[in-house]
Amino acid sequence: MHGVDECQSGEPLPPAQVAREVLDRGDAHRAIAVSAIGLGAAGLIELAIAVLGGSVGLLSDALHNLADVSTSLVVFIGLRVSRRPPSDSHPFGWERAEDIAGLGVALAIWVSAALAGYLSIHKLFIHGSTTHVGFGIAAAAIGVIGNQVVARYKLRVGRRIQSATLVADAQHSWLDALSSAGAMIGLIGVAAGWSWADALAGLLVTGFICHVGYEVTSELIRHLIDAVEPGVVATAVVAATAVEGVSHAHVRARWMGRTLLVEVEGFVDPATRLDAAQATGRAVEAAVRAAVPEARVVRWTPKPID
Ligand SMILES: [Zn+2]
Repeated sequence: MHGVDECQSGEPLPPAQVAREVLDRGDAHRAIAVSAIGLGAAGLIELAIAVLGGSVGLLSDALHNLADVSTSLVVFIGLRVSRRPPSDSHPFGWERAEDIAGLGVALAIWVSAALAGYLSIHKLFIHGSTTHVGFGIAAAAIGVIGNQVVARYKLRVGRRIQSATLVADAQHSWLDALSSAGAMIGLIGVAAGWSWADALAGLLVTGFICHVGYEVTSELIRHLIDAVEPGVVATAVVAATAVEGVSHAHVRARWMGRTLLVEVEGFVDPATRLDAAQATGRAVEAAVRAAVPEARVVRWTPKPID
């Protein structure tokens, strides 16, 4: 797709701000790592007590929390693997390894959704029993509190560093607290004498797992099919066109793993010397990187104006 030709100017960000964004990214990764460790622990406690007491609501919630943790884990594995340098056999590096790992995670999430759904329906029809209800309620409460704490933490860091991803992640954790509350209400229902309440809660929480599965899978497909977030191309066009000597620009962008690759064709005066065109290219690269912080590689091709 070719970007719209834009003539308005946008001031590129100063280098200090670019450096701050790198630091902010570190903060975001730390927030995700700390949250994942906390949720992993909560999920494992829930899983152990679900197996002990036969609660499908708690089991579904445990699987949901562990599925969320596994998606965070893939982000970190992807980060490590993608650092491997390009070679003759892998000239573009190893970045897509993350998407391949993501396929495994998506599969694991859908399998856990199917398992949770099957066990819940099975329990609903055979009127299965639930034991250790008190422990179950306590484990679900850990899920509620854990997810609430994580949601607030991500929201605080996300707002401070202005990360839309982290704020969205905080909203996800808030929904997760609701999911754990569902499992808890099911168990309270069992304690009150409604034995079917746990199976019903299991079905409800299965819905939440499907939601995670849908989010992970659609994001993965967007990446694999080379889609980019709306606004990336238009923003890069504005930034490139604002550089002196560029009359207009065509921009294409694609994700390669965690790298957003931006290709800029900039139209310059045909009389421009090669070294001047290269200097313009360096300015365009800086401007595009500043305007689109997730852009890691900017490729510049000067073209003569017709
Ligand atoms: Zn979740």
